Amino acid sequence: MRAFAYERPTTLADAVALLAEHGPDARILAGGTDLIIRLRDGTYAPSVVVDVKRVRELAPAITQTDGALRVSAGTVMTDIHDSPLMQRWFPALVDAARFVGSVQIRNRATLAGNICNASPAADTVPSLLVYDARVHAIGPAGERTIPLDDFFVRSGVTTLQPGELVTAIDLPLPSGRVGSAFQRRTRRRGHDLASVTLAVALDDAGTTRLAYGSLGPRPLLFVSEGGAPPLDDWFAAARPSPTSMRASPDYRLAMLRVLTQRAMAAARERLEAAA
Ligand SMILES: Cc1cc2nc3c(=O)[nH]c(=O)nc-3n(C[C@H](O)[C@H](O)[C@H](O)COP(=O)(O)OP(=O)(O)OC[C@H]3O[C@@H](n4cnc5c(N)ncnc54)[C@H](O)[C@@H]3O)c2cc1C
Repeated sequence: MRAFAYERPTTLADAVALLAEHGPDARILAGGTDLIIRLRDGTYAPSVVVDVKRVRELAPAITQTDGALRVSAGTVMTDIHDSPLMQRWFPALVDAARFVGSVQIRNRATLAGNICNASPAADTVPSLLVYDARVHAIGPAGERTIPLDDFFVRSGVTTLQPGELVTAIDLPLPSGRVGSAFQRRTRRRGHDLASVTLAVALDDAGTTRLAYGSLGPRPLLFVSEGGAPPLDDWFAAARPSPTSMRASPDYRLAMLRVLTQRAMAAARERLEAAA
């Protein structure tokens, strides 16, 4: 591991100033569950690591604001799956957060870090996509809000600009009834990323939202308004890696179909139960 300077700001203004000063030479540290691995294996060799865990504006919090639940950047997976607000409105995200790693990992791993790491296999992302999540970021050019579907470019790459920091993620509260579910396939739970991960949300106006991950360079979201969703077309967009050590493309594509059926059935049940 290359030596780096370590900074631990306590205000957002100081964190933004540090990131602006060091630009692409700085890396943000939240829970560190992805970052430490990448520092160790040399994927990242920053000159400065900016630890944001003590930034008070980013402290763990799930709050209801203006028709949305706001999840601050310091919020970890345990906070997500233990939150009664999350359990009430966003059960597919609760289910996904429960699947991440182990208790120790879930106590450290932030939701913001899960999206910023931009792994196509990140467990929480399909649920966040079907819930139409919005990402709040701040940087040298000020604040902006990014629809999550516009956030991912490819594995490890997002549309965040140099010096930008995610401050919170908003989940709009649904106006009507919604049933949603999460499914995932992995070789060994807690030790391996998913071979397929997906979420479905159905509403009583007939809209189907499906998102899947681990099937290409970035997670994909599909939306159909009314009628039977064109699932075969959506499946045809999957581009599983032919060289992955986790699963063959044929296996992933077969599991995508099976897990979609299961998620649709579970989401339908939840939609009916919400009546
Ligand atoms: C043993 C183990 C098992 C795991 N199992 C799973 C699993 O089952 N499912 C799964 O999805 N993941 C899993 N992970 C991956 C990991 O726990 C998650 O991706 C985690 O949510 C990352 O959050 P973090 O707070 O640890 O981020 P960090 O590691 O601190 O950061 C991750 C990346 O995001 C950037 N970043 C962090 N916060 C911000 C911010 N606020 N603004 C801008 N950039 C930021 C960092 O610079 C870094 O590039 C596992 C990891 C380990 C070590």
